[in-house]
Amino acid sequence: MSFALAKHWPETFRYAKKHSPFYREQFRKIKNVPRLADLPTVNKTVLSERNLDFLCVPQNRVAEIVTTSGTTGKPLLWMLTQNDIQRLAVNEKISFECAGVTPRDVVLVAVAMDRCFIAGLAYWQGLRELGCAVVRVGASSALLVLEMIERVQPTAIVAVPSFLRVSADKARDTKFDLKNCSVKKAICIGEPIRDHNFKLNNSGRSIEAAWGAKIFSTYGVTELANSLCECRAGAGGHLHENQLHLEILDDAGNILTGGEVGEIVATTFGVEAMPLIRYRTGDCAALFSKKCKCGRATPRLGPIVGRKNQKLKFKGTSLFPSTLHAVLEQADGVEHFVIIARAENELSDSIEVLIFGDAKPVTLREAIQARAKIVPQIRHTTREEIEKLQLPPDARKRRTFVDLR
Ligand SMILES: [Zn+2]
Repeated sequence: MSFALAKHWPETFRYAKKHSPFYREQFRKIKNVPRLADLPTVNKTVLSERNLDFLCVPQNRVAEIVTTSGTTGKPLLWMLTQNDIQRLAVNEKISFECAGVTPRDVVLVAVAMDRCFIAGLAYWQGLRELGCAVVRVGASSALLVLEMIERVQPTAIVAVPSFLRVSADKARDTKFDLKNCSVKKAICIGEPIRDHNFKLNNSGRSIEAAWGAKIFSTYGVTELANSLCECRAGAGGHLHENQLHLEILDDAGNILTGGEVGEIVATTFGVEAMPLIRYRTGDCAALFSKKCKCGRATPRLGPIVGRKNQKLKFKGTSLFPSTLHAVLEQADGVEHFVIIARAENELSDSIEVLIFGDAKPVTLREAIQARAKIVPQIRHTTREEIEKLQLPPDARKRRTFVDLR
């Protein structure tokens, strides 16, 4: 058991049992503090059905109400007390320090501050806690970002990778010299910039090239009011053990300790309003415990390889669409693509890859087999058909994976 777990777990258990209607009911027969690993997990469905039963404080102590990002189902209501907001600020401060941000930095926060998101609030609080100068440009105008770069000479930016790419396009169109601008660090949220072996993906490489800046990946979950940020080694997000405990579980619920990929299950420490115990995030990644090159000894969370419910079964093996995505993204002659999964039988899904471009199916099939160990069906089609599949009328963002199972 880690030192942080031994220190914080008993208090977390007693607090949740006493104050949360959900945990009071779940733990009513447990007298002594149990081993964390012996308790049941809680998933997002339970959290959404019993949403306000997780609240441990009276309404008048709630200081902020936000919603979860809602990638699955209806967004949950998530509440924080003033102390929770301070905890969030400390968490983000540690995260930014990991990325080498110092009080001397001037930082553009190019993330939405409104629409009930926690992210903008968290970054703003963390940067203020750290002592930086913050410029809240938001994420609605690339032109405003470029204008503020010119006027205030910021040294870092926090943004979603796709917005950094849009801003780079705008810079090119307006002949703005982004590569030699003052911004030298880009903290990326919400979308992957590395593949499973920590190498920058296409998106990550194009951002570093266009911005002339070093990029850092962070992973955050609203319900955990926590984010893990990479250091310069780019070898996974450092865990803040006094605030969060992570377990990686396999499909059978066993804890994986050898750096294997599994579902991220989290327990929050020090949360007043809505603490969580063994919460299944639905995201899959690996956790590494070896000391980092930067000298920190805290565990590191590897790149998110996918959502647990997206995992594909294919003739005795399993894989995430992100593995196929990584191969297709780098394949010569593939301009656009979409991956389609259909249910074939109990043991196997059928996987079809539609591509637009002049790639030869034989070469592509070999590349996929080498990396992903499977041979999907590959079909050439029109740009229009792929566009229609990537952006159906009800979609909020472009997708390259269509799950028809
Ligand atoms: Zn490190």
